[in-house]
This record gives sequence, structure tokens and C-alpha cells, in this order.
Amino acid sequence: MYRLAKRILETPPSATVLIADMAAKMRRQGVDIIDFSAGRAAEHSPDYINRVASRALLDGDTHQTMAQGTPEFREMVARKLERENGIIADPEKNIIATLGCKQGLTLALVAAVDPGDEVVVEDPCFVSYKPAIRFFGGIPVPVPLRRENRFRWRAEDLESAVNDRTKAILFSSPNNPTGTVHNETDLDLIVGTAKKHDLLVISDEIYEQTIWDGRRHVCIATRSGMKDRSITIMGFTKTFSMGGWRIGFIYAPEALISAMVTAQQHLMTCAGSFTQKGAAKALSEAPPAEVKELWQDWERRCQFVVSELNRIPNISCDPPEGGFYAWINIKGTGETSEQLAKRLLKEFHIALVPGSAFGPNGEGYLRMTCVRSWDDLREGLLRFKQAFTKRGI
Ligand code: PMP
Repeated sequence: MYRLAKRILETPPSATVLIADMAAKMRRQGVDIIDFSAGRAAEHSPDYINRVASRALLDGDTHQTMAQGTPEFREMVARKLERENGIIADPEKNIIATLGCKQGLTLALVAAVDPGDEVVVEDPCFVSYKPAIRFFGGIPVPVPLRRENRFRWRAEDLESAVNDRTKAILFSSPNNPTGTVHNETDLDLIVGTAKKHDLLVISDEIYEQTIWDGRRHVCIATRSGMKDRSITIMGFTKTFSMGGWRIGFIYAPEALISAMVTAQQHLMTCAGSFTQKGAAKALSEAPPAEVKELWQDWERRCQFVVSELNRIPNISCDPPEGGFYAWINIKGTGETSEQLAKRLLKEFHIALVPGSAFGPNGEGYLRMTCVRSWDDLREGLLRFKQAFTKRGI
């Protein structure tokens, strides 16, 4: 009898899947579920981008590309990085096309992490960081983020997480799930620690365009001395609602890109050919008004959700600084996040992610996606209110 690999036996299934599976089962039984659990907007990818990819497909662009990605795609990434992020990148040396940000993370870890290396992560953080690090034999070392500190790094916590075995710091700004945008002081701390201990920084910037209230996204790679020690992961999944396309990219120093290209050749071959065409279109110019207006509407949806949630007894929610989630404090209910998420689904037909899915420090919270349709938001929040007022959760 075969035995499964230890690495997979030791990996628990994603806790978000638990709620998603329950929701799918209830839907099959005809229950009208409103899904606030998946991290995606109600809108589809824009037609001006879809048309370019469809045309490429019909024109026969159905073959593998260079492992690093097409020259056209990389050129458009370089233009975008210069236009929007103040980064001058060489498309030959500093960019690789990936199959989404998650695969970007995989390539970063393949290239950078040896078995036994420690990687500092935030707690709470994106559900896949810790399993992905472990798949490569790395050891995730969580640094707690606390509400008192608006879920930011504290110098003493970061310093005590770092030792001789530490290889990298992995973080995302805005943070999923807390919605914290790391400000200049936070970046100073990470930069100082990385330089002091000679660490790589893996910066997941998938939410770089969803930054609210006049804040500005800063790429850590643009900080002095950071270009040569940063792996910047970016993509299209959130900002252009292109999660099904599986496309993204990495900006990094030449030696790291070259290592990732080798890994890409052996593992995935390349990102999709026609998806690179469509994605290149998305980056060829500054986002058009229709896209910018949509992002503004997402900010309004986030504000609406937070203000409605804060009218409900026993729960509270700080407005997200970025990203598109409400991080709802449920400590006043006396229930665990998993218990409450299950009840909200079973009794009120709304799906949210239990905070414990994001790490021990996520306990006491639920994550709700705010960028569903206005109709879903209104109806979903009504159900939420009923849950806490009439039925006394
Ligand atoms: N990083 C973060 C922080 C995310 O929230 C997500 C998606 N939820 C991903 C990476 C995965 O992105 P992609 O779909 O582009 O692989």
C-alpha cells in the first residue's frame, strides 16, 4: 500500500474550505446562501482585457511561452512598475510571469528557502503562507499582530522572532485578513531588521491597488538598499477580478529571477500564453476610468459594511486601511470563530471565514468580504443583524 508524503499528511486542509464545503452542500440542497467567504469581488474581469485574451486564443496563441514569460508581458510589467511603483526594472533580468500570486510565492520559496530555514510571517496572515513554507521544509515563525497596535509589527516581537536560522520575512500589505496597510514606520522596522540580519523580504503586494482613505502603497523594494534583497509578488486576481486566469508576476534581483526561471521550466513550464496577452493589456496603460471607478465603489462598499456592522451589538469592526475585508471582532459573543461561522451559515445562510483560519491570533474574529454586490451586502447584513438582535447570538 502506498503512503502519502509526510508533507501533505502534516498539512491540515485550509480552514476556509470547511465553510466553503458546507456552503456548497447547502446550496445543492436549494438553500440561498450569501457568500462573504471567498476573497473575490462580485465583478468579472473587464471586457477590454477579456477581448484581448479571447482574440489571442482564436488567433492560435495556444502554445507554451518562454518559462520567464513573453517579452511583451515582461515589457508591460516593467512599464507598470515604473509608472505606478517608481521601480525601474529590466524585463530581461528582473521579471518573471507566474500563474497567480500563490505560484509567485511558490517560486520565491523554491528559490530562497532550504529545509530548516525559518521564515518570519505575521499572525494573522494569509491562510496559505505557513503550509507553503512547510512544503519546502521551511519553518514559519509567526509574529503576533494585535488590535491594540492596529495589527502592526512591534519591534520587540520581530526582533525576538529572528535568529541565525532566519532566511526571510514574508508579509502582505495591505494585510489579508486585518486590512492593515504597513506605513512608513512599519516598513522602516522591516527594512532595518532585514538589513541588520541579512534577510530576504518576500513582499506580497496583491492588494496594492485597494488602499483606502487617501493612503498610498509603498513597495518595500523601493526603500534604500532593499532592491537586492526583495522579492515583490504582484498580480491581477484582486484588482482586475482575474482570479480564474492564474496570472501574476514577480519583480526581483537577477539571480533570484534566474533561479525561479529554472524552477518554472521544471515545474510549471510557463504562465498561460493567452492569459499573458490579456494581462499585458491590463498593464499597458494606467487603469482606465471604469476600473478606477470600480475600485472607488469597493471602498464605498467597505465603508458601508463597517458602518452597518458597528450598529450590531456584541461585535465591532475597524475600517480596513486597505484590501477588501471586514475583520470583525466577535469576542463579545463568547463563541469561537468557528462555532459562530458555522451557526451563521446554518441558521442565517451567510458564509464568513472564521478568524482562526489565519492563525491563533485570528481567534475572536470573522473575515467578511466587502466587495460582493450591493444587493448581496444589503441582504447579507440584514441577516447578520437578525442573527445578533432577534435570535440573540
Ligand atoms: N496572497 C494573498 C495575501 C491573498 O489574499 C491571495 C488570494 N486570496 C493570494 C495571495 C493568492 O493570489 P492568486 O489568486 O493570484 O494566486
